[in-house]
Amino acid sequence: MSIIQAIRGMNDILPEESIRWNHFEALIKGWLDSYGYQNIRTPLLEKTELFVRSIGEVTDIVEKEMYSFVDSLNQDSLTLRPEGTVSCVRAVLEHHLLRQSSQRLYYMGPMFRHERPQKGRYRQFHQVGVESFGYSGPDIDAEHLLMISRLWSLLGLKNIRLEINSLGSAQERSEYRGKLIAYFEGKMNLLDEDAKRRLYSNPLRILDSKNPQMQELVEKAPQLIDILGSESHRHFLRLREMLDSAGVKYEVNPRLVRGLDYYNLTVFEWVTDQLGSQGTVCAGGRYDGLLTQMGAGQGAPACGFALGVERILALLPENFAAKPVPDIYFVNIGEAAQLQAMAFAEQARDAGFKVVLHTGGGNMKAQMKKANASGALFSLILGDEEIARQVVGVKALRVESEQQFLSIDQALSWMRSFPLYRESISGE
Ligand code: ATP
Ligand code: MG
Repeated sequence: MSIIQAIRGMNDILPEESIRWNHFEALIKGWLDSYGYQNIRTPLLEKTELFVRSIGEVTDIVEKEMYSFVDSLNQDSLTLRPEGTVSCVRAVLEHHLLRQSSQRLYYMGPMFRHERPQKGRYRQFHQVGVESFGYSGPDIDAEHLLMISRLWSLLGLKNIRLEINSLGSAQERSEYRGKLIAYFEGKMNLLDEDAKRRLYSNPLRILDSKNPQMQELVEKAPQLIDILGSESHRHFLRLREMLDSAGVKYEVNPRLVRGLDYYNLTVFEWVTDQLGSQGTVCAGGRYDGLLTQMGAGQGAPACGFALGVERILALLPENFAAKPVPDIYFVNIGEAAQLQAMAFAEQARDAGFKVVLHTGGGNMKAQMKKANASGALFSLILGDEEIARQVVGVKALRVESEQQFLSIDQALSWMRSFPLYRESISGE
């Protein structure tokens, strides 16, 4: 019988790689903390209707990418979350979080989309999502872009360029929609299948087409930015002013429309050329209408973005995160020593040391070999003789040194004042 394997496009993250993930996540938490964002955690599973109503029926996600199924116990249609914004908004509304104050929130975790798996595109992938509710001005859009820019420097990443656009108000978009339909209707013979299907249901998405044969047509299409009203213009200009003054570089891309229906005004993407065709590592924008669209009696302005974790990790150097090593590897020989070592190891952990206690027996030579391979700074050594003398053997493993025999308390304080150990804890 062969073993059962994981689902295609859904990856195990093994310990070796997990080191990078843990380091990245810790850094992300510190980064978000430094801007006053708070963590929110929502279920991975939601009612299907939640996504259909908010993301828009004629989008890649809702048309073909959702993992939806009927719960056989009560016939509810459920969906594994394909993105985080909608669940976040649901939770904010359900728990009336906006009654007290505006909110700056973040989450991180897996998202699920039934796409064709390839490098940088998976069926279970991870996002860090950031959402701000209750702020209508361009200053919060600017804050988001500034913080992302800071993240790239924290990670040492260069060559990620920012593209921004404004989608205007719902009304401006609907006016533009008419213009776009008229333009494409005049070029019917040049439209591909996807474009024909979307012509009346979601013509803006045609601008997002990845088909090279459509590029010229798309480039010559009328641009939304040319028909923005004065308020939308002001928002966009002020945002640009803020980015300029903060030294955040960007390009205005009038064809940037984003895949989801709920955006208005500011939209943006951060793109790199280092990942082939899966080059977008962060995307977001403003979605002021979504809360009302989702049934909120009183809406609220909102904006946010999501980082694609797999893609960002793929950009980071091999040595991005160092493998964690224990401070102490505890060698123990014989049954009495095994019991005593277990207690001493707890005592050492109480004193703040990271301890790997040797398990599974074996002779001194075999155990010392493991101690050296563990990368630990010290070994503690306990056998019948040490127990009889009420001492423990202690040895520094990464410098030339003799084994000493000390009481456990003396051994702990000797290790605590050992220069290499002091360096390792002050570097943390
Ligand atoms: P794409 O155009 O690449 O399909 P998208 O517009 O569908 O992206 P968003 O919904 O905006 O993507 O998600 C935000 C970010 O999440 C993307 O910029 C990308 O970095 C990442 N992402 C999206 N889908 C996947 C996936 N299937 N696998 C890995 N990362 C993904
Ligand atoms: Mg997509």
